[in-house]
Amino acid sequence: MPMATQFRFLPNHHHPFTSSTTRRSSPANFVIKIRSQIQSSQLQALSKKKRRPENVDGDFFVDHTCIDCDTCRWMAPEIFTRVGDMSAVSKQPTCQDERLKALQALLSCPTSSISTEKPARDILEVQKTFPIPIDIDRIPGVYHCGYHSDKSYGAASYLLVHPEGNILIDSPRYTERLASNIEKMGGARYMFLTHRDDVADHEKWSKRLNCERVLHSTEVNVSTSNVEMKLNGCGPWSLSDDVQLIHTPGHTEGSVCLFYKPLKVLFTGDHLALAMDESNLAISEIYNFYSVPIQLDSVAMLLELEFEWILPGHGRRVAFKDIEEKNTSLKAFLTAKQHIHVY
Ligand SMILES: [Zn+2]
Repeated sequence: MPMATQFRFLPNHHHPFTSSTTRRSSPANFVIKIRSQIQSSQLQALSKKKRRPENVDGDFFVDHTCIDCDTCRWMAPEIFTRVGDMSAVSKQPTCQDERLKALQALLSCPTSSISTEKPARDILEVQKTFPIPIDIDRIPGVYHCGYHSDKSYGAASYLLVHPEGNILIDSPRYTERLASNIEKMGGARYMFLTHRDDVADHEKWSKRLNCERVLHSTEVNVSTSNVEMKLNGCGPWSLSDDVQLIHTPGHTEGSVCLFYKPLKVLFTGDHLALAMDESNLAISEIYNFYSVPIQLDSVAMLLELEFEWILPGHGRRVAFKDIEEKNTSLKAFLTAKQHIHVY
């Protein structure tokens, strides 16, 4: 129905949401005003999609819609860097491997803020590379799903291939392409959600892959009220003999880490990560929704756990040389005067 027609049905008395100026305007003028407002917001959106001047010349570029989530910078550090409060291309890809990583980052960007000037004819091939193996020698069967979602502010999600059924850890953005790739790898038996922030498209994934969602009961809200498994109390719980779920309250009350014993991998959600500058382990004080002191206590608890990898939702991942190095890093983090970083 055209807007002008709708106005015929408007009552003559004052609408509570219109300004006095608007009330004096004729419907026709009002329509023109609304149209120009729509046009200007469209123009604004278009101008935000324009290439940032901070990018180097060439095919790949980041636009003004970047939310500074850091994803492209750790996925393709040779190509992307941080300039101001956003990412930018610091070097154009010059070989196949760099191009692959740049396109993987483009597909994973939660806000679609990365583009190429020329159509990327190889994009379909790159879509087939997800989920991406993290380190096939040290942790075979552990994958980064890519396709980050803006609903979880760009958090990373993972696929753990397990003989008793694969586990999806936190939620990637839903795409049929990724779903069919995961299906070819055996699908998923569980979707483990570390906490309430990184649940993104959990409903679609659970329906598509027919997997049981696992979330701590204190994290459950309207959008997750129908998750299949709600963890109660302070655990630990297990999904199988070698998959342990560790309650690590602090970032949120019901934050839980997943510990995969055979490969010594800890999936931490937003509990603990490496800082953006990779100088030290970090927690985020700005994005703490429960208690920083309790989060630090939960970090101290990790000294007793035998892991060598930290795979976080937000922040950067870490591969320690061994348990000893993990413990040295944890102690350094806990005893540092300023142990709270932003990531
Ligand atoms: Zn969070």
